Amino acid sequence: MPGNEYLRVLHLSKTYGAGQEATHAIQDISFTVDRGRFLSILGPSGCGKSTLFNIMAGLLSPTGGNVLLNGESIVGKPGHVGYMLQRDLLLPWRTIEDNVMLAQTLRGVPRRQVRPRARALMQKCGLAGDGDRYPDQLSGGMRQRAALIRTLLTDKDVLLLDEPFGALDAITRGKLQQMLMTLWEENHKTILFVTHDIEEALLLSDEVLVLSHRPGQVLEHLTVELPRPRRSDIMFTSEFLRLRSHLSDMLTREVT
Ligand code: ADP
Repeated sequence: MPGNEYLRVLHLSKTYGAGQEATHAIQDISFTVDRGRFLSILGPSGCGKSTLFNIMAGLLSPTGGNVLLNGESIVGKPGHVGYMLQRDLLLPWRTIEDNVMLAQTLRGVPRRQVRPRARALMQKCGLAGDGDRYPDQLSGGMRQRAALIRTLLTDKDVLLLDEPFGALDAITRGKLQQMLMTLWEENHKTILFVTHDIEEALLLSDEVLVLSHRPGQVLEHLTVELPRPRRSDIMFTSEFLRLRSHLSDMLTREVT
């Protein structure tokens, strides 16, 4: 059912360990995302955002609940979504070009087939001259761009991005946010984006899902009705400030 309830998370729970040692990471999380939407997940540290993504990526079994993509369960089935972690996980012994093509080449797709798209994306992301360099020769922002290109090249329609810009300075982060918005608009992906930065969530998203303190539960699923394309000066509009204050109050209550 394209365009309608494309991705459904249903009553998802995860408890690590058992008895006295049990940690209830997330509890009864349900939400739906339509195809092509940009949804940010916002919550205090330790509320289970990475747990949720690991389950959605098929890498971790939930204690209960289900995740449906186009009506099919993807629980315990890796390979249905693209997943980018906060750490770039580039292989230090491979060039940037080889790193961005990694997922495809591991699947046996010939390099000459992947290379044109890889190079076009690297050009778009300002890495055109860096394909022959190695990860430790690049800045943090450049490495994150390479990791993002690698995630895009997986050709999955759903991308899970776990705090991809969390470790970057404010200026680099702003540039990468703009770049991500352009790539998202051009590539028609459905993006779920974990962040603990309220402004970043509002700037990028169509929707924001707010999670509670552990065990993570859905506090609110709000729609961001700000016009697109968005530039950083949208942060000074009254609607942006209203939403920021609302989310900030909610998260402050959770942390205290
Ligand atoms: P977040 O990404 O929001 O910071 P996590 O999903 O990493 O949260 O963790 C949620 C909770 O589950 C935390 O209290 C964390 O310590 C706990 N947790 C995460 N992974 C494990 C694990 N493998 N074993 C036990 N507890 C874990």
